[in-house]
Amino acid sequence: MPLYIRDTSLNQNRQTMNKDYRYRLDNTRPRIKVTCPVCGRAKKLVRYVDTFTGKFLSNYVGKCDRIFKCGYHYTPSEYFRDYPWLNDFSVHRPLSLRIKEHNTKPSFIEHSRMVESMNRCQSSTLFRFLCSLWGNDETMRLFHLYNVGATLSMNGASVFWPVDVKGCIRTGKIMQYGNDGHRIKEDGLVNFMWAHRMKSMVANPGDFNLMQCFFGEHLLSVYPDSKVMIVESEKSAIIASHYYPQFLWLASGGCCGCLNQTASQVLKGREVWLVPDLDAEDRWRGKISMLRTITPTVGIVNALSDMATPQQRAAKLDIADFLLDAAIKGTPII
Ligand SMILES: [Zn+2]
Repeated sequence: MPLYIRDTSLNQNRQTMNKDYRYRLDNTRPRIKVTCPVCGRAKKLVRYVDTFTGKFLSNYVGKCDRIFKCGYHYTPSEYFRDYPWLNDFSVHRPLSLRIKEHNTKPSFIEHSRMVESMNRCQSSTLFRFLCSLWGNDETMRLFHLYNVGATLSMNGASVFWPVDVKGCIRTGKIMQYGNDGHRIKEDGLVNFMWAHRMKSMVANPGDFNLMQCFFGEHLLSVYPDSKVMIVESEKSAIIASHYYPQFLWLASGGCCGCLNQTASQVLKGREVWLVPDLDAEDRWRGKISMLRTITPTVGIVNALSDMATPQQRAAKLDIADFLLDAAIKGTPII
């Protein structure tokens, strides 16, 4: 039973839900605005608040104050269309927000957009950080192999381009990292943006139908015999690929991202191993039976779980954290 049943204002909430007003633009005073992901101006984006939880949906779901000069407006319904799996965790989500999820034809981004961003990949903070560990040539090799670029609009941010098995670009995931290689958070929320939400990338962001594919999926045909290891984040796939090049590393792009029947069809006939972040083990274990209907050889790697201390578990570390930590200490994980 959802917790909100206990809420004394249940009827009012139901009404609100039905009218889709569960999410509204933040109108508290003093109002804290954040940097607009498109025009890059600080304190211009008014975010949407979930009136049930009192929390912001995300740092890029909102409306830019610069209505004419920028015009960025990313609504909660667009957000939930882009993230259909969030439905699993959002039991109160209004039905009307789920309507467009069944459009099965994906939209794509033009190849030239990806190339432009890849040409400036060295300007990203993540590139510089990995360069300090691996050197320029190896970092460049992996950024080219996986299609990673940089963007001008979010200072030093990396763009991870998920390219499907047919070579089509499903979107770009724009993420900011600090000088230590960790994601930058603002108000506890990760700074993150989709390329397909930007007018500079696609003509009509509102019409774009995002159907996510695995990040690194284009490499399945390049390495037809490799065992496939699946991690959650794009950065982890690249880092693990450096330390364990004998495997093909893909990223699900979100805690359950691509781990669904539709997107996982590309794994048919492959030996697949899941490498979940420490806080996602149970959820990923729950995906094994679904994956076995697609390919018979599926397993889960428990190594991280076995070696994690309670502190590391609380910090929800992922494989990249373990590998980089070991590399810095000079004690590689076998
Ligand atoms: Zn703006």
